[in-house]
Amino acid sequence: MSTDQNPNSPRGLSRRRMLAVTGGTAAAAVVGVPALVRGGLPEAAAASVPEYPGADDWVAAGSNALGGTRSSVSAVVIHTTQGSYRGAINHMAGENGVAAHYVVRSSDGHITQMVRENRISWHGNGANDYSVGIEHEGWVQEPGQFYTAQMYRESAKLVQHLCSRWGIPKDRDHIIAHSEAPGATHTDPGAGWDWDYFMKLVRGQWVPSQPPAPWTVADSGFTTVSTRRTAPPQTAKTVQHLLNHHGADLRVDGVFGPVSAAAVEDFQRANGLYVDGVAGPKTFAVLVVTRRNGDSGAAAEAVQVGLNKFGARLLEDGQFGPLTAGAVEEFQTANGLFVDGVVGPQTWEWIA
Ligand SMILES: [Zn+2]
Repeated sequence: MSTDQNPNSPRGLSRRRMLAVTGGTAAAAVVGVPALVRGGLPEAAAASVPEYPGADDWVAAGSNALGGTRSSVSAVVIHTTQGSYRGAINHMAGENGVAAHYVVRSSDGHITQMVRENRISWHGNGANDYSVGIEHEGWVQEPGQFYTAQMYRESAKLVQHLCSRWGIPKDRDHIIAHSEAPGATHTDPGAGWDWDYFMKLVRGQWVPSQPPAPWTVADSGFTTVSTRRTAPPQTAKTVQHLLNHHGADLRVDGVFGPVSAAAVEDFQRANGLYVDGVAGPKTFAVLVVTRRNGDSGAAAEAVQVGLNKFGARLLEDGQFGPLTAGAVEEFQTANGLFVDGVVGPQTWEWIA
């Protein structure tokens, strides 16, 4: 994600000063001075056409996310939006001081360009100066749900284009995670991003027909779901199912709003927990119930939703049968947990 503005802009200038320095260029563009000609089109017309032929749309980033231009690019930074495709584009089109060059959609690899490749923009902390940023729709916590084979494939083709145009080596020193950028505080794209799979695609190597690794978990430990932060839909659904198991009557829609928060408060009150409507680790620990082969109902459905978050592709029908048990065993094996196909307190910590 590129929602953190970098206070340390290139060469030690503050962002404000940087804008002042580059302000002359922006002003000149506004009054239409020297039309930079690209492919015979004046700048205004060319600017609405994506540079990468595989991109589908152009939406201009907000101007206060932009720095100056540059003559070389030597790295690509991989991001996760922590929100929807459209939401990320809208955010970066506004004057929010952050923008990546490209955004890739989870479901089909649809691509929107927002910043010219030769323009510095605020997305990757200390790497802004020399990198192009690519945002990928999804949540770090839900790699299996959002890091689809289609998205990997289309993103890899975009990276191939960037490497060929700018002479960037196709290796992990030059194609990096946001979390690997100098000064980065963000964790995207997280441990669930299948680098081995992705780099094989980027290098044009043979890739097994299997989809990207589905079981990698970013970290163990219960998450926190509240109305104050955008919860990934699968995580919010898991909470809603578990609340329903304990007697709530929520519509399971993956949106954690005031009604879900009120149900959490009821649950907390009934269980002697601190009442704040936030489903954090302490509340989760009481909320989860052990489920195994043969069980059914809302808590079993919560297990299926939780496993699907990491790519299990189970039918979410609340019937914990052999298929669900098999998925649990695969998940436990992949993450070094005791393998018994039973979702008890420890396995819950990894999937909720
Ligand atoms: Zn990022």
